[in-house]
Amino acid sequence: MAVERTLSIIKPDATRRNLTGKINACLEDAGLGIVAQKRIRLTRERAEGFYAVHKERPFFNDLCDFMSSGPVVVQVLEGEDAIAKNRRVMGATNPEEADEGTIRKQFAENIEANSVHGSDSRENAAFEIAYFFDDSEIVG
Ligand code: ADP
Ligand code: MG
Repeated sequence: MAVERTLSIIKPDATRRNLTGKINACLEDAGLGIVAQKRIRLTRERAEGFYAVHKERPFFNDLCDFMSSGPVVVQVLEGEDAIAKNRRVMGATNPEEADEGTIRKQFAENIEANSVHGSDSRENAAFEIAYFFDDSEIVG
């Protein structure tokens, strides 16, 4: 296994409920380092660009509305096997199917408002990190 970086987003349902610190604790307790982080409000256009791979999916419009409905915290996580590790800590997309102890099991409201995003591959992680961060903003 190698040290990897992955893009994480704390979604508007979680920032609205002041869960940033609790979610960050889950990530750090799992051994993921937060090497960049900022709280921003996505425009609809920026959300559409981020989720462009999903533009043919039936939930795309609602998802972009949701992701631009309030603040998000975008962050770069770093650690051994970080991409897969973060996906395990997050839990399944649908919180009803998520394992006990995962972020989505503990905090998600529903399959859309599911508290966190995490890159699902090295290729997507590279695209998604560059979508929000310059190299100079990432301090490992
Ligand atoms: P994940 O975030 O687990 O990688 P996907 O990439 O498949 O899941 O979907 C991206 C996001 O779109 C999900 O996190 C969720 O917010 C939303 N989403 C996925 N599937 C649905 C669905 N069936 N209905 C509503 N929203 C969905
Ligand atoms: Mg995904």
